[in-house]
Amino acid sequence: MQFDHILIRYGEMALKGKNIKKFIIRLQENIQHKLKEYPNTKVKRTQGRMFVLLNGHDPEPIIDICKNIFGIQSLSLAIKAENDIDAIKDAALSALKSGEDVKRFKVSVKRIEKGFPMGSQAMNQELGGHLLSNTEGYTVDVHQPDLTIKVEIRSEGTYITSRVIPGLGGLPVGTSGKSLLLLSGGIDSPVAGYLAMKRGVQIEAIHFHSPPFTSERAKQKVLDLAESLTKYGSSIKIHIVPFTKLQQEIFREMPDGYAMTIMRRMMIRISEKVSEKESILSMTTGDNLGQVASQTMESMNAINEVTNYPILRPLITMDKQEIIEISHAINTYQTSILPHEDCCTIFVPKSPKTKPKRDKISQIESTKDFTNLIEEAVNEIEVVKITDKKQVAAFEDLL
Ligand code: ATP
Ligand code: MG
Repeated sequence: MQFDHILIRYGEMALKGKNIKKFIIRLQENIQHKLKEYPNTKVKRTQGRMFVLLNGHDPEPIIDICKNIFGIQSLSLAIKAENDIDAIKDAALSALKSGEDVKRFKVSVKRIEKGFPMGSQAMNQELGGHLLSNTEGYTVDVHQPDLTIKVEIRSEGTYITSRVIPGLGGLPVGTSGKSLLLLSGGIDSPVAGYLAMKRGVQIEAIHFHSPPFTSERAKQKVLDLAESLTKYGSSIKIHIVPFTKLQQEIFREMPDGYAMTIMRRMMIRISEKVSEKESILSMTTGDNLGQVASQTMESMNAINEVTNYPILRPLITMDKQEIIEISHAINTYQTSILPHEDCCTIFVPKSPKTKPKRDKISQIESTKDFTNLIEEAVNEIEVVKITDKKQVAAFEDLL
């Protein structure tokens, strides 16, 4: 007998009361979407659980995909047997033999279908005895087993599972609405996007570039980072904003110490316009308290003044080391450290104010009208859609 199902457990979602149905259906859709290259697989819901029916597929690549889907707490390979003691014995034996490095095992039976003629305790003993007498070198250890063979007797059949594989947890992407991720080429913002997705947020991205000061390769780097994030969700639309003129004007016209704060305010203003157009209700950044001049409390206060949209800052209290660890885990680190220049690293004031004041900034900004340059930047946005696997095309019809 072979494993023919993958059992999906969805932990935290069980707490969501009335909304639970919405969360579960979204999780099912997300799993189905990720398994579209395996057309014979089916994702089924039963009470409190979900199953992927393998229909002959090798389970390993499917487990690898499911391990990266938010909302899944853990998974296990499962065999579905008929509610018949001999069939259950055969399946339990296969499950035990599939375990690696197992010497001590335990059987744990749960009888959800109360009509089944044997009680759980009697079943534990019956199955344990069967496994011992049909194998060699195993012992039963109910306290510290290497492997627990779980047997769940349900009305539609009995599921036998062994190894528990941890999932990513979190909430299914799409259940918390959309956010516009300000994606630079750095280490932080892709990690921020990943963490927002973990809370069920669907991401669109916006990137500011300043050609010819920033290169095509710098832009490609950002597209590559977005592609890495699609692994945890679905396609990502990226709005690429030509920022050169606005940036040059800021650095020409505004006092050196304030240029950086004003440039950030422009980024937020443009991001808000894009959010509005796309019906997106929040922005997400890789800001990290105290890391650089633009991320002091005073800077954030001054930058945030230009929008009343919520700004999610998932990294705000993290240590750099924690952020780097996540960037390694999600495979963005190697791309992020490529030495291509970013628009913020090219136009750098010699001594940016680390404690800008709202009033002062507003007053300085008001000496120059940036409206037309902002409009122009928004009108010239290029939209690129990155699909789960590869970048398809820039498509104007989304503008
Ligand atoms: P990152 O590693 O994400 O670049 P950082 O530590 O370099 O962050 P900053 O350069 O101060 O910090 O940027 C703070 C945040 O502003 C970034 O995390 C990102 O969300 C946003 N940001 C900065 N530059 C750009 C850009 N060129 N396009 C889009 N967003 C940007
Ligand atoms: Mg940066």
